[in-house]
Amino acid sequence: MTDDSCVFCKIVAGEIPAAVVWDSPWAVAFLDINPAAPGHVLLVLREHYEQLTAVPGSLLSAALGELPKLAQAVISATGAQGLNLLQNNGRVAGQVIPHVHFHLIPRNEGDRVTVGWRQGTYETPEEMNRMAERIRAALAGA
Ligand code: 5GP
Ligand code: ZN
Repeated sequence: MTDDSCVFCKIVAGEIPAAVVWDSPWAVAFLDINPAAPGHVLLVLREHYEQLTAVPGSLLSAALGELPKLAQAVISATGAQGLNLLQNNGRVAGQVIPHVHFHLIPRNEGDRVTVGWRQGTYETPEEMNRMAERIRAALAGA
């Protein structure tokens, strides 16, 4: 499954260049062209799925099987103190390229990377329980 207008499909197919660091039958990893920090890697599924929710679980398991090794390689190569793994779904969540990918972003004390949110609260324990129940029910109906 590919999309002719998708830049990541073109990179996976070797039609446009990228600084590839790893590849497997299921995924390709290359440097982000506009890195949040040096060594920012994108792990990109070979097949074109727009969002995570469409990806078969078995494919995702296979594609992510070597993620710990890739993350360690990014940390070792950059000398980073930590790493963020990010995956954006939908424009509202910051997704610009509609082809499932994971960001591996090396982190260091005092770096320029911002990943965050203001933490909220549930008004009552019941409200929290209702939310958990809605998600459990959605899973049961899936
Ligand atoms: P998103 O916002 O969709 O989660 O992330 C898309 C990422 O792809 C961005 O960080 C952007 O810098 C990167 N990107 C976009 N176009 C290209 C490209 O042609 N080559 C590479 N290597 N990265 C790209
Ligand atoms: Zn694509």
